[in-house]
Amino acid sequence: MTGATILLVEDNVQNRYLATFLLQQHGHKVVPAADGREALELAVRLQPHLILLDIQLPVMDGYTVARALRVIPLLQAVPIVAVTSHAMVGDRERCLAAGCDGYIEKPINPETFVAEIHRYLHSNPPSQS
Ligand code: MN
Repeated sequence: MTGATILLVEDNVQNRYLATFLLQQHGHKVVPAADGREALELAVRLQPHLILLDIQLPVMDGYTVARALRVIPLLQAVPIVAVTSHAMVGDRERCLAAGCDGYIEKPINPETFVAEIHRYLHSNPPSQS
């Protein structure tokens, strides 16, 4: 799969760089947002194929961002994948309860990261026309 527009919500520069590099290598367009407010604005404007959402963010945390995204009708079909270094029991459930479709743990594994993203993109693939 190639050619998806992916909104990458991540406040850490190094994490943003790595995820962007890996996704661009596979032909995806990556639009960065560094906090939740920017993420909400860009999500509405871009209507991306997928949203990657860091949970530990300034301004509002990722759970709050996910809940806010989920009530926007335009974005109902857009998969939201949480990315978090939280390894605590219950975080997966909290992400899903907030409206995320899935969960990837940090640190990102460059060997498997894009394949995992593609799994979620199948529910909202870019058109190949
Ligand atoms: Mn963070």
